[in-house]
Amino acid sequence: MYIFAEQRGGVIQNVAYELLGKANDLAAVLGHKVVALLLGENIKDKAQDLVEMGADEVIVVDRPELKDYLTEQYTQAIYQIVQERHPQIILFGATTIGRDLAPRLACQLNSGLVADCTKLTIEPDKDGKLEFYSTRPAFGGNLMATIVCPTSRPQMSTVRPGVMQKRQREVGRKGVITAFEPKFDTSKFKVRIIETKMNDKKVADISNAKILISGGRGVHDAEGFKKLQALADVMGGMVSSSRAMVDAGVMDHAYQVGQTGKTVRPNLYMACGISGAIQHLAGMEESDFIVAINKDKYAPIFSVADLGIVGDLHKIVPMLTERIKKELEK
Ligand SMILES: Cc1cc2nc3c(=O)[nH]c(=O)nc-3n(C[C@H](O)[C@H](O)[C@H](O)COP(=O)(O)OP(=O)(O)OC[C@H]3O[C@@H](n4cnc5c(N)ncnc54)[C@H](O)[C@@H]3O)c2cc1C
Repeated sequence: MYIFAEQRGGVIQNVAYELLGKANDLAAVLGHKVVALLLGENIKDKAQDLVEMGADEVIVVDRPELKDYLTEQYTQAIYQIVQERHPQIILFGATTIGRDLAPRLACQLNSGLVADCTKLTIEPDKDGKLEFYSTRPAFGGNLMATIVCPTSRPQMSTVRPGVMQKRQREVGRKGVITAFEPKFDTSKFKVRIIETKMNDKKVADISNAKILISGGRGVHDAEGFKKLQALADVMGGMVSSSRAMVDAGVMDHAYQVGQTGKTVRPNLYMACGISGAIQHLAGMEESDFIVAINKDKYAPIFSVADLGIVGDLHKIVPMLTERIKKELEK
């Protein structure tokens, strides 16, 4: 059971830990070990981190060609590992890098790929043989498709960040760290990074927030979102959004929750003026406690809410903010 341990600028991405968590559950059923693939430059010292988070072995490819993510370089390196090791299953994060790398690799390996999975299981098939099942939203999220790849190997899936659970870190956990030296065919390196410009727009990551105050079309505009921000400020939370407000240009896509946005799992998710379309629910229904404020008592969001408030959010949110502020002052 292999996972691609995505790193950016030498920082292991959360999704790698989530994949390690899930891979451990699946590997236990299959009796496999969990192997993490770590590619980059000067990243050897990150391998122990992956061992402590659940990898039994880390294959490290530490080369200057892999300093920044480039499709061809990364594909060549992993392709050669696969040819040598023949893994049965490889998991990637459904991130911009994973969504680029996994299909290229699947094509070169002549294997299948299930993209953007939200659930992975190992279950016996009709003959009792253990089979790997990947589940993903299909037809605009209106149904969940469970896909099996019975013949080609390795079986490959990209997995949505924020869906799988990380394991507790086991400090000092022992694992094998193996260096791998690929032979690059540099004649195929067609892309060079000339300059990297960081986006200086500060975008906070909503997937790590413990409290999210989320707004939908019912919030109307940026002025409406200021009311949500005031509530988020007193509660120590962050503001997020439905796609409707991203499409309307009111919120940045980085704050979108749902099938084509981020998957979140905060302790508290407060949905304000969000109807509860299936594509939105796909990104937040695993939240610990859901509060919905909607003026339509039949809005589908109430079916997943632990607490529902029927009414005008533009009155309720400021009242709630004031009340919480007073309680906190006490
Ligand atoms: C392939 C695909 C992917 C998609 N991905 C996503 C995704 O990632 N995330 C996402 O969110 N959507 C996604 N969508 C869109 C989704 O189907 C819905 O259109 C969208 O979630 C609706 O956003 P909304 O709930 O804010 O707006 P609406 O559905 O218009 O709901 C607005 C709600 O606000 C309530 N309201 C209005 N005024 C007030 C008020 N004053 N006080 C209280 N309540 C009020 C209304 O009663 C209503 O329930 C996707 C769609 C497709 C087809």
